Amino acid sequence: MKLAERILKIKPSPTLAVTALANSLKARGIDVIGFGSGEPDFDTPRFIKDAAVRAIDSGKTKYTPAGGIPELKKAVADKFKRDNNLEYKISEVTINCGGKHSFYNLMQVLLDEGDEVIIPAPFWVSYPDIVLLADGNPVIIHSDEKDGFKVFPEQIKAAITSRTKAVVINSPSNPTGAAYTKDELRKIAETVADRDILLISDDIYESIIYDGLEFSNVANISEDIKKKTIVLNGVSKAYSMTGWRIGYMAGDEKIIKNVEMIQSQSTSNPTSISQWASVEALNGDQSVIGEMVSAFDRRRKIIVDGLNSIPGFSCLNPNGAFYAFPGIEKAASFKGWKTVSDKYGADSISSAMSSYLLEEARVAVVPGLPFGSDRHIRLSFATSDELIIEGLKRIKSAIEKLV
Ligand code: GLU
Repeated sequence: MKLAERILKIKPSPTLAVTALANSLKARGIDVIGFGSGEPDFDTPRFIKDAAVRAIDSGKTKYTPAGGIPELKKAVADKFKRDNNLEYKISEVTINCGGKHSFYNLMQVLLDEGDEVIIPAPFWVSYPDIVLLADGNPVIIHSDEKDGFKVFPEQIKAAITSRTKAVVINSPSNPTGAAYTKDELRKIAETVADRDILLISDDIYESIIYDGLEFSNVANISEDIKKKTIVLNGVSKAYSMTGWRIGYMAGDEKIIKNVEMIQSQSTSNPTSISQWASVEALNGDQSVIGEMVSAFDRRRKIIVDGLNSIPGFSCLNPNGAFYAFPGIEKAASFKGWKTVSDKYGADSISSAMSSYLLEEARVAVVPGLPFGSDRHIRLSFATSDELIIEGLKRIKSAIEKLV
């Protein structure tokens, strides 16, 4: 049977694919170190798991309202007030099945065929494909490493057309870790001030931020900008709850209502048990976040220093999130590279490098190409110090063979 055209427009998520590949090699007894998945290696905190068990035991195992239980919506609104100084009514908040699903629902609500969404590169791999699934066109604008991987407002302005529906802001960024300051966000917001364009602030890495930097949200800039902003977030990264699949969003009531309508016709509701656990995550002891962030901070130093000591690699210090995004261009000019590109393909250096590292060093990394930069690879440092140190050692000796 001929499948729908839309399926031909997208690829499987490369972050999930690399993780699956590393896991399958491990299951076959091959000692692979995985830097693929953007998933904290910590267990979900005990008090959150206890809340889930209580939910099961007390029969909170049935359908919930499509847009989530009122208790969780309130916990989300309280979180926005407490952490971000943003006031939302309950009707301006909805709960989805993970951060990815929040973005997916939003694109389904916003886009007609040919509508455009401006996405700064490097970007999280799934944004463009989710836009394509909604028949929209991703419009990619490129940032430079020397500018700390941040785009300039002029670039956004130049990319705006009569079909532009939204601009995506992901700060701290997956994959670069770049975080915009409040002033930079203000200038970005000004580009859409007199236009009917939505700002999408994907704040999923909000709490993972280093060096005393303050997280800024574009919605804080003014009441007018807040009205033009949809904030996306979730419990996955902050509370190590990736598998629970709870994302949420806040903003314009009409958009939220339509997101819930789509959900009522697709997933019915996010899992009831996960929702009750998320109430506890958001209302409970927030010190669990700080404990994880200090471990990530320690690992950040290990990985950035280690990558910068590898010949031909150069890595910026990420402001937030838990990804290192080293440049590999120089390593791909070493004399041994010809054998690598002959073997793994000459059309993408980041894919050839990833394949080489998997086979030669038994280390799984994600190629930069699907993030919008073929000159980089991504390593998640949400894994143990020991594995990071051992993985870096392996990468270094594999690269030294090419020099
Ligand atoms: N967002 C994480 C990552 O980039 C999780 C996997 C995914 O959904 O892409 O690795």
